[in-house]
Amino acid sequence: MKCKVCDKKCIKNGFQANGVQRYFCRLCKKSTQKRYTYKSYQKHTNKLIYRLIVNSCGINDISRVLRISRHTVKKRLLYLSKQTKRPALFEHQQSYEIDEMYARIKNKKHRYWITYAINRKTKTIVALYIGKRKAKHIANVVNRILLLNPKRIYSDHFSSYKKLIPKNIHRAGKSLTNHIERLHLNLRTHLKCLSRKTICFTKSLKTLEAIVRLYFWGNTINFKYV
Ligand SMILES: [Zn+2]
Repeated sequence: MKCKVCDKKCIKNGFQANGVQRYFCRLCKKSTQKRYTYKSYQKHTNKLIYRLIVNSCGINDISRVLRISRHTVKKRLLYLSKQTKRPALFEHQQSYEIDEMYARIKNKKHRYWITYAINRKTKTIVALYIGKRKAKHIANVVNRILLLNPKRIYSDHFSSYKKLIPKNIHRAGKSLTNHIERLHLNLRTHLKCLSRKTICFTKSLKTLEAIVRLYFWGNTINFKYV
């Protein structure tokens, strides 16, 4: 049998408890079966989960479409989000927009804020933080932009930004953040748990974080190895 990851020949490596032959790849040190009966172990499942979650499918939808359990989908989402990488940036003297949007968890009382910043020109997401809407939390995002030696930072009139961003590079105004406001709309359309005026929501902050990370930086995952 050929290895599913590196296409090299595998050697036989004992049997499962139910009598199915197991194989072992000497190159990537992975033990596999020729065929799996449970659908979540099939080759393209992780890629399908990623594609569905960023195209307005919820966890329950994916579970119904792929016929795997909800718990597995959730576990895979957390695993995949760990494989994403925040882009390493070496730019300077660029303009950034920073803003926050709310997401509700469990019920309307649990409100969390997704704070993130984009490069105005390249539209890459520079920094992301999900949590409360206070200065010490927003500082996580602002400090990361300040490390890049920015030319300008555009935001709305929210008081925390005035505290955190140096005056000479800060510009505040609702009309100055239209690029990032448009991205908020994309998020609300493409992620089911963020769509407003529906009954969709995530049950935990961890899952919400995983989904948003996958939406922003999911293209950094190499699906051949996960
Ligand atoms: Zn291999």
